[in-house]
Formats: sequence, structure tokens, C-alpha cells
Amino acid sequence: MVKAIVGANWGDEGKGKITDMLAEESDVVIRFQGGANAGHTIINEYGRFALHILPSGAFYPHITNIIGNGVALDIQKLADELNSITGQGVPAPNLIVSERAQLLMPYHILQDAYEEERLGGRAFGSTKSGIAPFYSDKYAKTGIQVADLFDEARLRERLPRAVEMKNILFQHMYHKPLLNVDELYDSLLTLREVIRPYVGDTVSFIHNAVKENKTILLEGQLGAMKDPDLGICPMTTSSHTLAGFGCVGAAVPPTAVEDVICVTKAYSSCVGAKTEPFISEVTGEAGDELRMRGGDKGEFGATTGRPRRVGWFDAVATRYGCTVQGATQVALTCLDVLGYLDEIPVCVGYEIDGEVTDTFPAPAKLGRAKPVFELLPGWKSDIRGITDYAKLPANARSYVDFLEARIGCPITLVSTGPERHEIIHRG
Ligand code: GDP
Repeated sequence: MVKAIVGANWGDEGKGKITDMLAEESDVVIRFQGGANAGHTIINEYGRFALHILPSGAFYPHITNIIGNGVALDIQKLADELNSITGQGVPAPNLIVSERAQLLMPYHILQDAYEEERLGGRAFGSTKSGIAPFYSDKYAKTGIQVADLFDEARLRERLPRAVEMKNILFQHMYHKPLLNVDELYDSLLTLREVIRPYVGDTVSFIHNAVKENKTILLEGQLGAMKDPDLGICPMTTSSHTLAGFGCVGAAVPPTAVEDVICVTKAYSSCVGAKTEPFISEVTGEAGDELRMRGGDKGEFGATTGRPRRVGWFDAVATRYGCTVQGATQVALTCLDVLGYLDEIPVCVGYEIDGEVTDTFPAPAKLGRAKPVFELLPGWKSDIRGITDYAKLPANARSYVDFLEARIGCPITLVSTGPERHEIIHRG
């Protein structure tokens, strides 16, 4: 049976902890999209880790971890991450890297940085990890697959073609130094040795695992708002963040996906450019307070350290996010963070051109939306670590019930702290 765990919002919903919990019960954990441009925070007996490219089953010896064909594979970052976890005492993970995954190249990172520099004030707030140039090249069919590394004649033919196009761009558009194809070729052969032990045919592996009725977890990165088709275009990422894309990026049969667990936080947070519409945003002192209290160490990016924008729970965006993810259940995280508030605003509608709607609009209209808030009573107490739903204060339970009714999908998990055991199974 295949389960997917994905984000309902802008990413950073707290998927890491829930994924870690579900990973433990899985046989296979697969990353199917994105690259090392976002991070999960996982806290376990080995310490506190920010995983960027390794699947979350990396800490369990019984799990096969897969980097699927849909991932943007930065081999250097994968090598660094493997070294960093084994350096902290974690046994080397059981990992298969798809031979069909494409390589995120140093020139993708350069191009990403050059383009953000060129855009200046109009920049997208990219993490400059090379993701947008990588996926552009994939769809332009100039990408290099892992398998190409092991076919030197093919690599010798494909690499210069890709570099030729980059050099035209680098010279004439960005006025930057040219790439040397021979140096790049040599460095790829060195990096090839790092992944050689892990490379495999993940398509056959996954289809066999499905046939054998193994428990397979698709691990999503970022969230629905960042999907290039159904998110807030153009402030999205460049790979599909939806559970449905697991069928492509992990080669899982669509009919095998039985469960989609959508993660959302009890408030909102969003990284990226200030120009992105973020309707339920809280700014000023109230925003600073929520940011400092949020997550396990405040709301700052796991990959970049950038302060995240924060807001109240956005029921309009979250219901839409859960819908496009095809959620079968919802995990609500960070409920403990809100214990300091007398009253908690929840965004229940958007006012656009004088009309109130609870349907999430297309991006062109979203920029004109103003939040409509409903105030819910706070519970004014520390609920951190509570594991029994009945022990939550009545107002905290009412808050969860209210969100559930607005989202229209059962909230089955409520997280009351960053640690693994701080979770309520709501049934
Ligand atoms: P992801 O990008 O969705 O995987 O987000 P992360 O896993 O990085 O989670 C964001 C932050 O929230 C991390 O600092 C987590 O440790 C923290 N976190 C997750 N769940 C909870 C929770 O229930 N309460 C609190 N206070 N922090 C949490």
C-alpha cells in the first residue's frame, strides 16, 4: 500500500516529524520531487537533523530509501549529507538512487544566482539551489541522467550540448565567466564514484514492492501553494509538490496510492519573496512574537536560515491545498505554539473586489484578496506534549474542530511539540 505525506500550504508545515513517525512503519520511503532546496527537521535519539535530499527513512536500518527519478539530484549535497549523518553516529542508510534521476549541475546553481541578481528587486526569492534552471533543462531535454554518468560516450555527447547553451547565456545575458566542459566532465566522473554504490533501477524495485504489498511512503517537499500548476504561480517552486506527482516522480502506479496525509500548521508560515500574496499574514510586533514562538526554534528556514513570514491559519488556502492534494486525512502541527494568545484569528474568507469568498482564487485575483477573520477563544495554557485528545483544554479542542469543519477533511493527528512522542492520535 502506498501512502503519501505532503504539505497543504507553503511548505514548513512540520512534515518532517510526521514523516519520521510514518517512516518507522514503512518498508520503503521515496523522495519524488524537488531537490536540496528545502529541509525537514527531524529530532530523534541521534540528535537534531535538517535533511535536504535524503529521504526521512534514512535513520532506520529496516527501510529502503529511494531518491526517485523526479528528484533534482545534487550529488555533492547528497555526499555531504551522507557524511554529516554518519559523522553524528547514524549507521549508513539503505539507499537507492534512481538511474533515471537527473543531475543538478553546478551551472544550474550559478544560473539561479545570476538570474536572481539580474532580476534585482523583482527576484523570486529563490534559495539559489539551481532548481528552476534544472527543471527548465529537464523539460528542454538537455538534462543529464544518473545513468549517463556510466556511459561515457553518451556523456561526452550530451554534456557539451548542455554547456554550449549555458555559455551563450552566461556570456551574453549575465556577462559571467564561461564554463569549461572538460573540467566539468572530470568532476562528474569523480562524483560518479560517490553514488556508484547506490544507483539502481528504482522503477522495477518500486513495482515489485507494490506487488509484494510493502508499505511505501511518498515523501513530499514544500506544499500545495508551491506547485507550478495549482499553486500561486509564479511564486512556486519548479517541481510538482502534489501527491499525484508521486506517480511520475516515483513511478508509483496511480491506483496504488491509498492514503494522502496532508500536513498543515495551526497557523501559517511562508518563505520566499515579500511580493508573494500571503493573505493571512501577521506583521509588526504580533508577527514577531508568533515568529519567535513558532516551530521548535522560531520560524526560520531550515535550509537558508531566512526569517519566515507568519500568519494566522488560512482556512481558504488550506481547504484548497488539501483538495488539490487529494487528502484523505490531515495532520495538524504546532498547536502548542498558540497557547499564549487570548484570542486566535482564523482566516475564513477572502474579500476580493468587495465580495467575500471561501474559494481559493487564481493567482491573478489573489493579489487583491483581503482576509476575513473569525476570532476564536484561546486556551491560555501550555499544552506541549499532551498525547490524549481529551486532556486538551476545551478551547483547544474547539479550535481543532473549527479548523476541521473548515478544511472539510478529518484531522486525525494533532502535534503538540516538535519531539516524536508529542502527538495525539485523534482517530
Ligand atoms: P517541513 O518542511 O514541513 O518538513 O517542516 P519542518 O519539519 O522543518 O517543521 C518546521 C518546524 O516545526 C521544525 O522546526 C519542527 O521541529 C517544528 N515542529 C514540527 N511539529 C511541531 C509541533 O507540533 N510543535 C512545535 N512547537 N514545533 C513543531
